[in-house]
Amino acid sequence: MEAKIRIVPVNAVDGAFLDRLALCLEERFLARARVERSLALSRSALNATRGQLFLSTLSAKVLSAHPEQDGALLVLTDFDLYKTSHRFIFGDADEAQSLAIVSLHRLRPEFYSEERDPNVLFQRTLKECVHELGHLFGLKHCFNARCGMYYANSIFETDNKTSYFCETCDRRVGRAHR
Ligand SMILES: [Zn+2]
Ligand SMILES: [Zn+2]
Repeated sequence: MEAKIRIVPVNAVDGAFLDRLALCLEERFLARARVERSLALSRSALNATRGQLFLSTLSAKVLSAHPEQDGALLVLTDFDLYKTSHRFIFGDADEAQSLAIVSLHRLRPEFYSEERDPNVLFQRTLKECVHELGHLFGLKHCFNARCGMYYANSIFETDNKTSYFCETCDRRVGRAHR
């Protein structure tokens, strides 16, 4: 079976940004990547006190909109995410559902009171997408701080790693899928 990545934006995400992302992901995973229609989600889905979206709330909505098991799903959202064990997350991977989720919220330079920079946002997003999809393609965390599978705890660590796998991870990637 050919590996497939289906990108699902939540609400509006820039089309050129998504096309560029799809192309880079095809190159990293040797899988076909395509952008699906976006999933509409209003702010009423957020936890009103925290102003954040609970990861499981989003997962449930995505899986009910895409019940078919057809490749890896990669969800991109602007909402800030949290889960039971974490105050916030950049993203998450659910291997059982083949579902990866990445939040752009804390990847924007503006979040850190820095100037808006579409290229920085793109590179950070690509790194987080490569990481979460890496889990769906069978990879675990890597101790190489430059490897895409390094677990970044802060935006500094995200900036320090690359959007590529180290040699070891690159050899292992996708064995389950190909
Ligand atoms: Zn991880
Ligand atoms: Zn690695």
